[in-house]
Amino acid sequence: MARAALPGRLNWQLGRVVDTIQQTHRAKSLVLDLPNWPGHRAGQHVDIRLTSDDGYQAQRGYSIASAPEDDGVTLTVDRLEGGEVSPYLTDVVEPGDEIEVRGPIGGYFVWDGTEPQHPLLLLAGGSGVVPFRSILRHRARIGSTVPVRLLYSARSLPDVIYRPELAASGDGVDVSYTLTRQQPPGWTGHSGRVTPDLLAGVAWPDDLMPLAFVCGPTAFVETVAGALVGLGYPAGQVKTERYGGAGAS
Ligand SMILES: Cc1cc2nc3c(=O)[nH]c(=O)nc-3n(C[C@H](O)[C@H](O)[C@H](O)COP(=O)(O)OP(=O)(O)OC[C@H]3O[C@@H](n4cnc5c(N)ncnc54)[C@H](O)[C@@H]3O)c2cc1C
Repeated sequence: MARAALPGRLNWQLGRVVDTIQQTHRAKSLVLDLPNWPGHRAGQHVDIRLTSDDGYQAQRGYSIASAPEDDGVTLTVDRLEGGEVSPYLTDVVEPGDEIEVRGPIGGYFVWDGTEPQHPLLLLAGGSGVVPFRSILRHRARIGSTVPVRLLYSARSLPDVIYRPELAASGDGVDVSYTLTRQQPPGWTGHSGRVTPDLLAGVAWPDDLMPLAFVCGPTAFVETVAGALVGLGYPAGQVKTERYGGAGAS
């Protein structure tokens, strides 16, 4: 699509925070009203820019958690202890505040629902689940019946973002968890980091021509994407979004 057809798309604009929702002890959603929002595709992200009183600026990417059909643009930020930007967004920002936003960004890590012949495999590490919330909501809103498997790696059950919403995903969406640090008594889900063996049990067989999306900390994405290719997934059918950092969830 010609950039000229989307005037102002990559310009910074001020978004007003109209609501905040505490999702977990570390993660908070910010609902933004963006008067000049051109619309987005499920899976895209925005840049956020903060400017301090002395003019110092910090900029970070955040996936869009809301579906294209939803009102407002929702971001969900996981607070990184000692981080420069995320603790400000989770602990300081409140409704009524204005934040600089640029986007939507990204044309590769997106799912429009126009290829219903490919089952979806969504693999999330930590806050890497955020764009998948947009994809799942979009799937529901367009009435898609594409079968979906989501494997979500989180530290512990209280760290799982959108848990009630994921539990209510409905027909055709199978959600499983692996808890890496702490499992509650009687836990029947998976434990530990995502391994090739765990993936082999969860992934669609490659002859179904699935489309895989992998999102989260860089180490998580690289391990999981490599394991999928090892299972026979063509690299072109494994889309990745790296959030940075070395830590795996
Ligand atoms: C396209 C894109 C989309 C993103 N979407 C989201 C999102 O929806 N929600 C969200 O919470 N974050 C998301 N991120 C990550 C986000 O941009 C920031 O990197 C994150 O919030 C940390 O920023 P910070 O300024 O608080 O930490 P920093 O001050 O940048 O980093 C503090 C320390 O944490 C390490 N670190 C940085 N990022 C990570 C990470 N992801 N995991 C583990 N360690 C890390 C750094 O190496 C450093 O040591 C996304 C990143 C990208 C590139």
